[in-house]
Amino acid sequence: MKFIYKILFCSIIILSLALGLSGYLLVNSVFQSALEREVEQALNDSTILRFAFETAALNVPTKYDLLQDAAVRQIGQRMESGSESGRKLRISDEGKQPLYQSEGFVGSDSVLEQITEQAKTWQIFPDNGRYYVQTGIVVNALDRNLYLEAQNDITAVFEERAKGFSVYRKVTLFMILASSALMFFFSTWLTKPIRLLTRATRRMTMGDYYYRARQVSDDELGQLTQDFNKMAAELESTIGELKDEITAREDFIGAFAHELKTPLTAIIGYADLLRSRKLDEEKQFLSANYIYTEGKRLESMSFRLLDIIVTKREQINPQEVSAETLFEYMRAMFRERVGDRLLISFDSGKVCAEVNLIKSVLLNLIDNAFKASGENEVVELHGRETPRGYEFLVIDHGIGIPEQEFKRITEAFYMVDKSRSRSRNGAGLGLALCAEILRLHNSELKIQSEVGKGTCMSFILPDKESYEEMD
Ligand code: ATP
Ligand code: MG
Repeated sequence: MKFIYKILFCSIIILSLALGLSGYLLVNSVFQSALEREVEQALNDSTILRFAFETAALNVPTKYDLLQDAAVRQIGQRMESGSESGRKLRISDEGKQPLYQSEGFVGSDSVLEQITEQAKTWQIFPDNGRYYVQTGIVVNALDRNLYLEAQNDITAVFEERAKGFSVYRKVTLFMILASSALMFFFSTWLTKPIRLLTRATRRMTMGDYYYRARQVSDDELGQLTQDFNKMAAELESTIGELKDEITAREDFIGAFAHELKTPLTAIIGYADLLRSRKLDEEKQFLSANYIYTEGKRLESMSFRLLDIIVTKREQINPQEVSAETLFEYMRAMFRERVGDRLLISFDSGKVCAEVNLIKSVLLNLIDNAFKASGENEVVELHGRETPRGYEFLVIDHGIGIPEQEFKRITEAFYMVDKSRSRSRNGAGLGLALCAEILRLHNSELKIQSEVGKGTCMSFILPDKESYEEMD
């Protein structure tokens, strides 16, 4: 059953019970007081009747010193004909045998049996669809103790109660119908946030992660909608990240397969040539050399890949090292290959890093810079202290990188100019490795470049205190 109908039915049940009970109590209490009034009236009447009877008895001729049965009947008749209210009488003798009884007197005998000198008795009883109150009292007249009973019709009080109940039933029914309509309206209004949330949940289940529930109130349900939307936003961004990651992985696998295919095709081709034909010495050397260089390229690619995978999982252990040691190492590494085309300048000081990893970053950046530069162009390596840490800059005056490529060149296997990079034995893995290493050092690569003018790649290594705060 829908929540809205549950609210509706519960409210109707509560309302019906409340209205029914209060109506019953109200009508009944009015009836009770009317009934008490009638009984009191009947008892007062019975006292008056006694006086009337006793007075009438006094007027009986004095020759009788005892009230005769015939005189009693006469008095009874007179008293009854004097009444306009339809009251019926019964007068009984000392042995409780009726001496006089009005026509239509239907009273029960239990009142007669209970009458005593000290107390008046009364009883209400139904007869033939009508209701009566019967009173009984002892009358002392001319040396006789007689029993006088009166019976008053009080059907009107009961009819009044039935009428009250019937009116109240109609009022209750009308109230329930009217309030059901109102409650339906209110429960629809109150449950609107729930309906909107349900719709949003369904849309999200169907894969529409951008859908948000509309907030229509500021109460707890409004808060729930807000929290739901926050959760949906989180979910959307997590799913987005996961999708990006999946795409990145697919791209990675695609690029990896492609990078494997090119050297392998060459290796297989030249190996086939060597085994199927007798080549002269020079061609044989060239073929073997091709197989060797492409094999080497595959080997270095697999080492780089391994480095990236290991770096992704690694926790670093930064150590302080003097900047001079690092820069002198770089000078030594490139002296043989480029002579004095690597210009180095640096602020002396301490650098806090995992030394081997940072050496690898610098080697890759300088290697890229030379690969992008002409035969005689210089590459600059600078180091300087900044308020945020020690900054490294690798500057070249080579071909430069178009701005739209900045984001992608740190992706594995990405090369701006594939044939140029491959001809320089590149696999597009160097910057991906640098980015991973710098991420571990809580740093990132900053790229500034202009096509045809050159490139500046820089990064800042945070000082020792920053690492301690990170922990
Ligand atoms: P690998 O480093 O794996 O041997 P690679 O040098 O081609 O191969 P990355 O170091 O990742 O790969 O560089 C990615 C691409 O970015 C390069 O192929 C090149 O196109 C471009 N690039 C990197 N550094 C520079 C630079 N200083 N000037 C111009 N282009 C650059
Ligand atoms: Mg490189």
